[in-house]
Amino acid sequence: MKKLFAIFGNPVSHSKSPLMHNLSFQGLGYDACYTRYLLEDGSRLKETFFNLQLKGINITVPHKEEAFKACDVLDPFAQKVGAVNTIVEKEGKLYGYNTDAPGFLKAIAEFKNIKTILFLGAGGTAQSTSSILRDAGYIVTILNRSEARLERYIKDGFQTYTFDTFKPQAFDLVINMTSAGLEDDSLPAPKEILDTVIPTAKACVDVIYGKETPFLKLAKHYDKPTKDGSDMLLYQGIIAFEYFTEHVYIFEQIEPKMKKAFIL
Ligand code: NDP
Repeated sequence: MKKLFAIFGNPVSHSKSPLMHNLSFQGLGYDACYTRYLLEDGSRLKETFFNLQLKGINITVPHKEEAFKACDVLDPFAQKVGAVNTIVEKEGKLYGYNTDAPGFLKAIAEFKNIKTILFLGAGGTAQSTSSILRDAGYIVTILNRSEARLERYIKDGFQTYTFDTFKPQAFDLVINMTSAGLEDDSLPAPKEILDTVIPTAKACVDVIYGKETPFLKLAKHYDKPTKDGSDMLLYQGIIAFEYFTEHVYIFEQIEPKMKKAFIL
């Protein structure tokens, strides 16, 4: 029987994941199909998964924490960060993984001689990526608009600042981890702060993809190498695909197929 996969989210109509995974299934000759599902009530994730007779799902905003709660078995990294974006069903049990963070780690690997990183933002994506970056040996500092979200990072031993408490200093990499610029024209931090940290950085990265955000525009104005969130999206998808297909294919086999979703 054809295996069925989906992405759950709200909204979900804009997601590139169905195209990425279907092109890969097709390109590799794997008998499966991937669709999208608008999940309004996150607490119904498990029930919906089984009702639709799915083999696996990706989970996007705002259900990654509900997805974490719905799993029977968690990969140690997903367990640590409390967010799941990939679920695979095996013998009636749901296995949960986080592929966003390893995808992001791979996406920034092209920038060499990087030690210190400034995160603009402290939401769910910042949470999982800060953890994996620290494990990989980077020193991550968090700057966020509101104080409330910083609590967890302080507990975990990260250096944190709000816009009011920030002390100008140099970082190798500055990363926009906020949704500022996604649907509006705002910068992720006051321009006076960005005007101090961007000029001294080696490169600037945005997790938003498919558009040039005001943050990346400013980084280009300072002649910095930049990168948007497309590779992160691609790599998290490839790693999820490896789980979906139970590691029958390796990364290098999946990449050229999935990449086609970005040039269509
Ligand atoms: P969350 O809602 O969990 O967190 C949002 C963060 O952005 C908070 O720190 C919030 O600050 C901050 N923020 C929002 N608007 C502004 C603003 N106008 N100015 C300053 N700060 C702001 O979001 P996620 O972590 O889930 O997602 C963050 C981004 O990552 C999104 O743009 C999403 O599209 C992108 N993403 C990209 C992926 C990819 O594959 N490329 C994968 C996953 C996410 P505060 O605490 O003050 O509210």
